[in-house]
Amino acid sequence: MVPAKPGARSSRAPRALIHRGTPETLRRLARVLRRGGLVAVPTETVYGLAANALDAKACRRIFRAKRRPANDPLIVHVADRRMLARIAEPNDAVDRLARAFWPGPLTLILKRKAVIPAVVTAGLPSVAVRMPAHPLLRRLLRACGLPLAAPSANPFGYVSPTTAAHVQEGLGQAIRHILDGGPCRHGLESTIVDIRDPQRPVLLRPGVITAAQLERVLGGPVRTLVRRRTARPLAPGLLARHYSPRRPLLTHRCITAAMAARGGADEAWICFRKPAWAARAKNIFWLSAGGDPRQAGRRLFALLRRLDRGPWRRLHAELAPADGPGAAINDRLRRAAASR
Ligand code: AMP
Ligand code: MG
Repeated sequence: MVPAKPGARSSRAPRALIHRGTPETLRRLARVLRRGGLVAVPTETVYGLAANALDAKACRRIFRAKRRPANDPLIVHVADRRMLARIAEPNDAVDRLARAFWPGPLTLILKRKAVIPAVVTAGLPSVAVRMPAHPLLRRLLRACGLPLAAPSANPFGYVSPTTAAHVQEGLGQAIRHILDGGPCRHGLESTIVDIRDPQRPVLLRPGVITAAQLERVLGGPVRTLVRRRTARPLAPGLLARHYSPRRPLLTHRCITAAMAARGGADEAWICFRKPAWAARAKNIFWLSAGGDPRQAGRRLFALLRRLDRGPWRRLHAELAPADGPGAAINDRLRRAAASR
């Protein structure tokens, strides 16, 4: 199960198998994982590229397939609290958060146990853990009985995949197996909170679970890591530029004003909600007709990918209302737009 070396294959045709989640294929894919292979898996956030989190060699294959830098640690997915206790040191706050949000799109940074190889955590003493909600991934986790390390199933830095076809497009040559679980329910990566010190939780990455929701459950403030205009990551792997289409992308607070100022026919405009005006123009798109941030989040990456394949010289996107789930959309848009 060695991924293709860049340029090793003459044909550019994708070759990964896309599997339906039948009991038989789940058994087969569990076997692939137990033997140190890679499987792209559906989650409720985005598709992940999974390997046995206890097997350093298997996890190194993830980095090679994605061309992900070794200093960007992986999130480990667990089936249940017992599996969590095998790999990390829980605390009271973890109990409360797990009861409120797991299984679901919340990743916790915890102290790691020695069974987790250093390659998974980029040598850090902490480990990122999540209990995913997607029923197929949960069945696969139980079938193989192993924690699975899984970053998004795309070449490093590109827009995250929210369908099996997206995975095939980006990694079809580098991996053999994709488990198809349909389009992802949330379409944005998990919220990440560092909860090693239960008194001082820190939000490292916004997601569909908002800081306000975390604060309600924890009964105190959650500090947000402030992003400066720098290419240097503030936390491991949190790069200023990420999730980026190949076409240049600009973000705007008010897209109407921006469009009035330039508005070339060879530029595509992504509105947050369906605009009353000009909605028939071929170069105007929207994330959610009614302005629902959850629907907008679910559709963001698929639309960026579609427009990236289109005839557009440049893409423009309107920022979401910044409160609640809009914060996650804006985080991804700003990083997608950050300069190279
Ligand atoms: P993804 O690429 O969506 O799988 O998300 C992985 C991200 O989780 C990394 O880029 C880091 O930002 C974060 N992460 C993973 N492990 C850790 C850790 N031990 N400490 C801090 N952040 C982490
Ligand atoms: Mg990623």
